[in-house]
Amino acid sequence: MNEELDWANLAFGYLPADYNVRCTFKDGKWGEIEVSQSERIDMHIAASSLHYGQEVFEGLKAFKGKDGKIRVFRLEENAARIQASARGILMEPIPTELFAEMVKKVVALNARFVPPYGSGASLYIRPLEIGMSPRIGVQPSSEYLFIVMVMPVGPYFKEGFKPTNICIMREYDRVAPRGTGRFKVGGNYAASLVAGEHAHELGYSAVLYLDPKEKKYLDECGPANFIAIKDGKYITPASDSILPSITNKSLQQIARDMGIEVEARHIPVEELAEIQEAAAVGTAAVASPVAEIHDLDNGVKYIVSKDGKPGPVVTALYNKLRGIQLGDEPDTHGWNTIIEVE
Ligand SMILES: *Cc1c(COP(=O)(O)O)cnc(C)c1O
Repeated sequence: MNEELDWANLAFGYLPADYNVRCTFKDGKWGEIEVSQSERIDMHIAASSLHYGQEVFEGLKAFKGKDGKIRVFRLEENAARIQASARGILMEPIPTELFAEMVKKVVALNARFVPPYGSGASLYIRPLEIGMSPRIGVQPSSEYLFIVMVMPVGPYFKEGFKPTNICIMREYDRVAPRGTGRFKVGGNYAASLVAGEHAHELGYSAVLYLDPKEKKYLDECGPANFIAIKDGKYITPASDSILPSITNKSLQQIARDMGIEVEARHIPVEELAEIQEAAAVGTAAVASPVAEIHDLDNGVKYIVSKDGKPGPVVTALYNKLRGIQLGDEPDTHGWNTIIEVE
């Protein structure tokens, strides 16, 4: 146990844990897993990650159940995605077994930071791969460092599961039509900072981006996927510029299990007038319900939640996914990895 941490009031931010784990790809192969107590790395001033953005990352969580067991949610999916991201910007993909071993090891080593059941908090796991070779000519690295760090993070909804307003602004794109949007690379986040800041200044929690090619269809909601409930169906945008969210994929499966039809397709902006519920989905919050969507370019306001409360379908999907992560609901699809702590 960790007496000094106030689990229920933790923010979503960096906190030091006891250990991180690291592995280097050098001379054509991955080396031994190194356990480190340092929060620093020693790197070359001309490293390809610093100059040309060769950087990919992941985000997943571990939870403590009522039974005291620690469960990591869908780590194989995160392994597959960081490999796809690495290939997308010519980096060395991390083998699934290495990724899994490092995630299990770092969680076990930092078991005292996994928040207790019932606190609403969780252990956030952040894998990060960076290019280490000095490169001034534009070229990929030959050496890579893969690090997995962890930190406890507080419950996302401190004031309860409440809908927020989001906005559409056509003056910004997060990604290009055939660009890197479907990869989890730091550069996409850098590209979204100005738009995100602008939206926050105007009082919105996020920007609902439109497809960068035609600006006709819904794309992503800040760093989260967008889902909506329309006439009892689960609809979500499908496009090449969207990051394939593991939360969205899991909620789609849960929806099907509940007998809800799922449609992943282009969603024209105007269709927002016909939806009954909406949420931004991702690991951080699972689902953040949406109250209103304001199109700032034409003044149209889509009122999704008429009473300011989350809708019944989004709430049911959210509760079910949280229940599986915590071990309160049966893990029928084999999504959890139980961590052995010595
Ligand atoms: C990580 C991420 C998401 C959410 O993915 P999850 O696997 O559900 O956490 C959505 N959009 C973007 C751009 C992301 O980087």
